[in-house]
Amino acid sequence: MIIAIDGPSGSGKSSTAKQIAKALDFVYLDTGAMYRAVSVGTLRSGINPQDEKAVAEAVKNMSVRFKDGMVLLNGEDVTVAIREDAANKAVTPVSANPAVRTLLVEKQREFAADHDVVMEGRDIGTVVFPDADYKFFLIADLNIRAERRMKESTEKLSLEDIKADLLRRDKKDSSRSHSPLRKADDAIEIDTSNLTFDEQVDKILSMIDTKSQNMEENEWLKS
Ligand code: C5P
Repeated sequence: MIIAIDGPSGSGKSSTAKQIAKALDFVYLDTGAMYRAVSVGTLRSGINPQDEKAVAEAVKNMSVRFKDGMVLLNGEDVTVAIREDAANKAVTPVSANPAVRTLLVEKQREFAADHDVVMEGRDIGTVVFPDADYKFFLIADLNIRAERRMKESTEKLSLEDIKADLLRRDKKDSSRSHSPLRKADDAIEIDTSNLTFDEQVDKILSMIDTKSQNMEENEWLKS
């Protein structure tokens, strides 16, 4: 079974997806971390993230893996580096690179071939798994998203800086030509602005029937 959770940064996707995977005993895949790891690899190789050709070449030699809660790039732990401001900036052009997307989407599909999975990102319900069993699209008010990011951040950034970064990434992610951030027509939209973490997890879990493998059998979800 595939559960797709998409939405903009700070909408609560990661923490929610992780908890849902835990509750259902599914595997969790954070696709944003994959794009972030490639961005760190690009920066560490001294490549300009905007240089489409050079990034397309470099990504062929990168391996991204998840192990014991760590994100590994060519075997090296980059769990902290992928959340730093440099990666926040580089990930926008890197994730808009068609060669990077093609490669990572292939890995994401391979991963789901032998797992029940909760996968979160921007294009899971639209591009990676248009036939996912369940699709959720999380949104939240900008101020709330920025406050959540601030709590998570290890760097000292002002709320205004975080808001500006969120707005910049939302705009770029939604307007890029390749796999833009967009709600799938059949995704269930959930506004998490006024929900506690437990409430948003419970709301999603209450809609998932793990005995059913097909959305067609869950017509009630769409109403
Ligand atoms: O989810 P997170 O904020 O960590 O994602 C970082 C960036 O990776 C996003 O701003 C977006 O540019 C990119 N991304 C993407 N497609 C995905 C997941 C993330 O383009 N499926």
